[in-house]
Amino acid sequence: MSMRLDPWGHFAVEDYEKLLKEFGIQPIDQVLSQYSLEHIYFTRKVIFGHRDLDVWFNKFLHGEKTAVLTGFMPSGYPHLGTAMVYEELKYFQQKGVFVKIVIADAEAYAVRRENRNEVIQRGLDFVAHAIAWGINPDKAEFYFQTEMPSSYYRLIQMFSRKVTQAEIEAIYGDLAPAKIIAALTQAADILHLQLDEFGGYKYVIVPVGVDQDPHLRLTRDLADRFKHELGFERPASLYHKLMRGLDGNKMSKSRPEYAIHLNESLEIAEKKVINALTGGRITAEEQKRRGGEPWKCTIFELYTYHLIRDDKRLEEIYYECTTGKILCGQCKRNASELLKQLLKNHQDSLKEVFESRLIEKLVKKPLF
Ligand code: SF4
Repeated sequence: MSMRLDPWGHFAVEDYEKLLKEFGIQPIDQVLSQYSLEHIYFTRKVIFGHRDLDVWFNKFLHGEKTAVLTGFMPSGYPHLGTAMVYEELKYFQQKGVFVKIVIADAEAYAVRRENRNEVIQRGLDFVAHAIAWGINPDKAEFYFQTEMPSSYYRLIQMFSRKVTQAEIEAIYGDLAPAKIIAALTQAADILHLQLDEFGGYKYVIVPVGVDQDPHLRLTRDLADRFKHELGFERPASLYHKLMRGLDGNKMSKSRPEYAIHLNESLEIAEKKVINALTGGRITAEEQKRRGGEPWKCTIFELYTYHLIRDDKRLEEIYYECTTGKILCGQCKRNASELLKQLLKNHQDSLKEVFESRLIEKLVKKPLF
């Protein structure tokens, strides 16, 4: 049976290779050998696929106007999966790329049916966390969808003229009107930067979890259809693996008990880690004899995505696990200490961001 990705769903991907083939996503390997992409998400293949990263990178190296853009739907609180996107934005920003961040408040209102005031407040929190994670606000812009001018909304109308029901169904399946409008709004988010009014950034890259690929496929098709009328170029995209929750399913804002939130109390974070699903064996004796299975383990995923920067140390943990030299209890306690330090540092920075009242100056808050 053919696969379908649901950008609004909650699922964990079992087979990333299959996904690459099914959707024509380019594997990251070839680009890695061509360009110097030194972040651990590239070298560890956490970012496993892309569309036209090589085209985008060449434009960047030749001094063309490039930007990196992504969005957050403020329908929950930022967690370690959200922080992966912050991390990627920070990486590109440090290379000198302009960063733009969308707060998808229109989508949260229409699709998730969230309370409007809560959506706005959480949107501001997402921005604060992005800055606390290390995104330089002087080289980034943040916006709420509902605060955009009419030329942005005009794009949504124009896109609706050149997209068919059959195409929407082929990409997304059967969609309610709110989701169709949300998809076209996302296309406007990704493509509006190319208009002169918004900076004329012709080469935009979008780092996202792979579940968001349907939006990229639709947007790239729309870019082709508006190439002559509006001079659009196809956006490039980068796909990272979906960070799993501590029960082994996708980490999601809507399943808070299995996610580590960035504002989590250190005590709760510790408890969640201690109760997490591992790749350990049923008994300590068996684990000492056969070793654990880190490729199944949510704790090893935490190490890989966030807690260990040093590749050599990560390899050591892998070795200690697979040879039964360490048991899950100790390994979880080690992970918990590292995680608490990471959260504490982040929360200290967040406090500074809030105290500075920077967010009020940076983002135009919707009135209602
Ligand atoms: S020893 Fe650590 S890495 Fe290995 S399965 Fe247990 S918790 Fe996971």
